[in-house]
Amino acid sequence: MSDTTENAARAGDEGIESYRESVAAVRELLGGRRVYAYILTFGCQQNEADSEKLAGMAEQMGYTLCDEPDIASLIVVNTCAVREHAEKKALSVIGQFKHCKRRNPGTVIAVCGCMVSQRHRAEELKERYPYVDLSFGTSDLRLFPSLLLERLKGGRRSFTLPPDRPPVPEYMPARRALNYRAWVSIMYGCDNYCSYCIVPYVRGRERSRSPEAVEAEVRGLVESGCLDITLLGQNVNSYGRGCGFGCDFPGLISRLSRIPGDHLLRFMTSHPKDATRELADVMASSGHVARQFHLPAQSGSDRVLSAMNRGYTADEYIGKVSYIREKLPGCVLTSDIMVGFPGETEEDFAATLELMRTVRFDMVYSFIYSPRGGTPAASMPDQVPEDVKGDRMRRLLELQTSISAQINEGLEGRTMRVLCCGPSRTDAGMLECRTEGWKQVLVPAGSLEEGRYADVEITGTGAFTLRGTPADGK
Ligand code: SF4
Repeated sequence: MSDTTENAARAGDEGIESYRESVAAVRELLGGRRVYAYILTFGCQQNEADSEKLAGMAEQMGYTLCDEPDIASLIVVNTCAVREHAEKKALSVIGQFKHCKRRNPGTVIAVCGCMVSQRHRAEELKERYPYVDLSFGTSDLRLFPSLLLERLKGGRRSFTLPPDRPPVPEYMPARRALNYRAWVSIMYGCDNYCSYCIVPYVRGRERSRSPEAVEAEVRGLVESGCLDITLLGQNVNSYGRGCGFGCDFPGLISRLSRIPGDHLLRFMTSHPKDATRELADVMASSGHVARQFHLPAQSGSDRVLSAMNRGYTADEYIGKVSYIREKLPGCVLTSDIMVGFPGETEEDFAATLELMRTVRFDMVYSFIYSPRGGTPAASMPDQVPEDVKGDRMRRLLELQTSISAQINEGLEGRTMRVLCCGPSRTDAGMLECRTEGWKQVLVPAGSLEEGRYADVEITGTGAFTLRGTPADGK
């Protein structure tokens, strides 16, 4: 083992003894009784991945996971802070759990995640939600067993705020919902400070897991039959920066690509300022990286991009896209676009539409800007009126819908390999499948098996969904 590897392993083990002792002590307190834990998750994939760890730890401590808060002795709410609205929703749901506590005073209610990483929210919970027992932020998940233990032993309620330099622990087990699809966090936090975003303030400074730890997790998943693995980070392109691993993100992708198996790797999110040619080169030479690239542009106006602190111009963005398309023909390209950022003029918005016409994204996740307290953009002058934002969003959607529909039309009659993902939530009697580029294909239920790859013939297309039938005519 090199010095760096040893250091990384040591860092990953920091706190492991106290963690194990707490897990064992909670198990002992539960005394082999059947007790239930209910975990509710708000927010992004990173939060979903965190909840899988919370579920893994709960099981390790002796709880049985359930879908019903009324029977739970442990209720965990994993919160989001990306918008004020998300926080209000979480607070309202937490409020409803006071009835569970009233019925069963022994129930422990824990609140974690981005919302409670903010001091004012942690204080609000402490003062105004007396039935909440403990809270801890995203960088303190490892403390879950010890905080729970203290409370179960009759200790005081505790509301923990994130440390300045959190460790990157490797000993928390994950309880994954599916065996054929998985998220793997490769890094935590963000150093980018986009002017509209709260994430750096609630998830802390950027820190990466060691390449050895990531490889071990991915290898284990592949060996257990997982077919689709998404590497997660707020900005995966800065993986390893400042960590002394000697391995950057393209290096990590190269390393993971050597794991044999019939699986695909994908990643999100990629920040355009840090997406390199080398990454596209590595993707092109790997047999295991999906031809899918989510590259959030946010705006096509250089003036707005600068006010957003994004660190690239529209031309630089387009240049990166051209290189990706050259190296990865057929790559599905998606983006995030925000409308109504403070000071956005009609001319700025026209530049965004122009960028969309030039790039022709397969799909765009569009957002109307809403001020997020605690971020620089919230106090910028020239906030755009709501009716103007709404009108711009309507025009953006109209354009993107027509581009997506045209692109998808070209897939009609093709045979595509898809991953069968389970019953459609919107179309009864249909199975939702996903192409390599993660386009949704609906296939009649019963014709294919969930959790397997299959070839389907595309028989119908629309802007958002494709329809298909098994290629062998089954
Ligand atoms: S890159 Fe920007 S938008 Fe993404 S999490 Fe970091 S600060 Fe937020």
